[in-house]
Amino acid sequence: MYTGPMTAPPSPETLERLKTALGPGGWSDDPDRLAPKLVEWRDRWQGTTPLLLLPRTTAEVAAVVRLCAETRTAITPQGGNTGLVGGQIPQGEVLLSLERMRAVRSLDPLDDAMVVEAGATLAAVHEAALEADRAFPLSLASEGSATVGGLISTNAGGTAVLRYGTMRALVLGVEAVLPDGSVFEGLKRLRKDNTGYDLKQFLIGAEGTLGVVTAASLKLFPRLRSRAVAVVGLDSPGDALAQAASGGAVEAFELMGRRGVDLAVKNIPGAREPLAEAHPWYVLVEFAMGQAGAAEAALERVLATGFDAGLVGDAVVAQNQVQAHALWALRENQSAAQKPEGVTWKHDIAVPVGAVPTFIDRATAAALALTPDARVVAFGHLGDGNIHYDVIQPEGGDGAAHAALRDQGSRAIHDIAVALGGSISAEHGLGTMKTAEALRYKAPAEVAALRAIRAALDPNRIMNPRVLF
Ligand SMILES: Cc1cc2nc3c(=O)[nH]c(=O)nc-3n(C[C@H](O)[C@H](O)[C@H](O)COP(=O)(O)OP(=O)(O)OC[C@H]3O[C@@H](n4cnc5c(N)ncnc54)[C@H](O)[C@@H]3O)c2cc1C
Repeated sequence: MYTGPMTAPPSPETLERLKTALGPGGWSDDPDRLAPKLVEWRDRWQGTTPLLLLPRTTAEVAAVVRLCAETRTAITPQGGNTGLVGGQIPQGEVLLSLERMRAVRSLDPLDDAMVVEAGATLAAVHEAALEADRAFPLSLASEGSATVGGLISTNAGGTAVLRYGTMRALVLGVEAVLPDGSVFEGLKRLRKDNTGYDLKQFLIGAEGTLGVVTAASLKLFPRLRSRAVAVVGLDSPGDALAQAASGGAVEAFELMGRRGVDLAVKNIPGAREPLAEAHPWYVLVEFAMGQAGAAEAALERVLATGFDAGLVGDAVVAQNQVQAHALWALRENQSAAQKPEGVTWKHDIAVPVGAVPTFIDRATAAALALTPDARVVAFGHLGDGNIHYDVIQPEGGDGAAHAALRDQGSRAIHDIAVALGGSISAEHGLGTMKTAEALRYKAPAEVAALRAIRAALDPNRIMNPRVLF
């Protein structure tokens, strides 16, 4: 965690200058307007800010960042406020929201690229791409609110990473306001550009510490019309890995455990058991291909091979869009279904794909050694080796006692992931929640280099000062 000097709270005069720079409608200090931006999805952080900045153009973002640099005023950028590690929640900094910068600036089907402002939601990006008969493949459960700026700043992953990669692979160019208020006009649409350091890649995953992303050019793909979705019942996640070797048509390969399905059926209205009989594990698999009927045929073939090999216990293939949505809802609600169950230790780990079963076995032994009746819910992007490994307090048990063991439990679980060659944060980033923990595992030489880069761009540490190294 950063323990060096922090900027002082902004003076009343600085706040007035910021308001003047943006004019009426460009700022707010109305508590009702601020309230939803000061709490996050898990209700884990409650923030404060003296002022919400609402710029409408890149020039306005540059003007306020310049002013903040001059007055050493700290800034927290915020997009859709769906981040899960606290990085978008201000603790006294001015809050800079991109919510008024949502335009699709251009979309060129020939280039397979679109230029969109940072405040546009992922759902809006999907819609714009589809209108041009193209697809933007990144997909996650928060896509109605998560914004392009947030997705870039957290290098978001989601359910199609095994085929298309994370945001790092999907961004062709970035426009950003750097911490001194200068504008990096990097909205290239090139597939190849090998001209030394790539500033765009520094900004991707920077969690708002190296500047404010104001727009991006995104890579588009052909729209694959043939899609097939199934949920498969299995005895172990190892069996699911055997299925993962099923070729390039796989777009999603998502794990759910028995307890996660139980909780979804219990706590999510409309959620139903996917299969007639209960299974210890489930995989939701989606195939996507270009030719009509091809994905359905490929999926049937793979399932038949799985049955013959005795790996697949049972499976349901969605017969229409409604059924496909219902199967996806079961997966996407794995996290929401835990909310009413009390205190949970949450983890977002990655290990090499083949090590997932070992990770789950070892982590479960470690968690139960601390809280014997804890309820483990392991789910997530099995095809990427990214497991959301959650440990819920015992049913009807003592939430405070479980919370008191969180740090010790998470430490043990992170140690197991790292010992298997893994990461303690696969896709959510570090924010304020995991920075100190990440420092335990990063090599000193790497940390020193990263700090030097940050200090060079932002010597007074005004950008998201409590986040990252
Ligand atoms: C139900 C649910 C499911 C999720 N599923 C996934 C998943 O499958 N995969 C995944 O990767 N994530 C997932 N997330 C996490 C979250 O949706 C992503 O991290 C997302 O990218 C955050 O986007 P946002 O616009 O909400 O950013 P915010 O939450 O507003 O901000 C996140 C970080 O980015 C910074 N930031 C935001 N905008 C800018 C900008 N314009 N310039 C500079 N910095 C900026 C903030 O300061 C903060 O550090 C999920 C979240 C929820 C609630």
